[in-house]
Amino acid sequence: MFLVFIEIREGKVKKSSLEALAEARRRAEELGWPVAAAIFGSGLEVQAPLLFSHGANKVVFLEGESLADYSPEVYAFHLAELIKEIQAEAVFFAATAMGRDLAPRLAARLGVSLASDCTKVSVVNGDLEFVRPIYAGKAFLTLRLKNKPRVATLRPNVFPLASDFGQEGEVSRRQVQATYSRPASRVTEVLREEGAELDVTEAEVVVSGGRGMKAAENFNLLRELCRLIPRSAVGASRSAVDSGWIGHQHQVGQTGKTVCPNLYLAFGISGAIQHLAGMSGSKVVVAVNKDPEAPIFKIADLGVVADLFQVIPHLQAELKKVLTE
Ligand code: FAD
Repeated sequence: MFLVFIEIREGKVKKSSLEALAEARRRAEELGWPVAAAIFGSGLEVQAPLLFSHGANKVVFLEGESLADYSPEVYAFHLAELIKEIQAEAVFFAATAMGRDLAPRLAARLGVSLASDCTKVSVVNGDLEFVRPIYAGKAFLTLRLKNKPRVATLRPNVFPLASDFGQEGEVSRRQVQATYSRPASRVTEVLREEGAELDVTEAEVVVSGGRGMKAAENFNLLRELCRLIPRSAVGASRSAVDSGWIGHQHQVGQTGKTVCPNLYLAFGISGAIQHLAGMSGSKVVVAVNKDPEAPIFKIADLGVVADLFQVIPHLQAELKKVLTE
């Protein structure tokens, strides 16, 4: 049995969880295993058909007061209990902030290894094999895990969604008692960034700015572009973040986030190796830089040698035409 942890944000299932679910189902069909999806929280029954259509054969709702807010220790504890009970042989998470936090805790609790941030999963000789980038994306590591369950996090935007598995399956609900009474950490407040949009790791289009943006207020130009482009988010180089022009949550790269959007737009970013480490998996890269020698052009599918402040208004006008017509 596969188990997929389903992440919920503001009552909605995260797209990256659906990607993990669809990938679990594809591999499960090769292995002849069923797929269960685990959701923590109450009042989420409406999500069941969505999870069935994306690959779940069974949806398990874990409800209880102690689960209202995310707590890595409490969630890992109850997940481990569920895994033992249903004898899950593999557990997938999306490699989001929550998945990256929870999966290692779960693996440690179960005493098993973890394949993190995987970009490929296959079945080889009846077992799962994982591929993950290492050395900032310069090499790939193929992993077979020794003990069960196989625990893995899957990089968002890499695995295709599939929503044609039908609308029906088994639903089970379990009331969780507050057995884990003294977690070392708890959520006291959730602070939302003002006007916060999609996280860069989940965006299908990332509109990124670097030191070439020159000032914090110029990032509004990128925000305006994002308002025009569906499922887009603003990204940034470390120089822009270190200059205090934009928050660290937008940073792409070795010490920031790894993104795999369909389109990565880089404005005034030189293309340092540490930046490339976070975005070279993008499907299409378009770079705007006034220096024709900028290294970003080596990996760009389309390069525009120009002043970004001249390019952005044209792009904005064209996007308005194309997307509002
Ligand atoms: P610059 O390298 O200064 O490039 C600015 C670019 O803008 C230039 O190419 C310039 O030609 C262009 N430009 C200027 N004005 C205009 C204009 N008007 N129109 C068009 N183009 C213009 N960096 C990251 O991004 N992410 C990381 O996670 C990260 N982690 C790091 C970890 C370590 C351990 C180290 C040592 C470094 C890390 N860095 C990271 C920093 C990285 O090495 C670079 O310094 C950084 O990426 C450079 O950012 P930049 O491209 O915005 O700035």
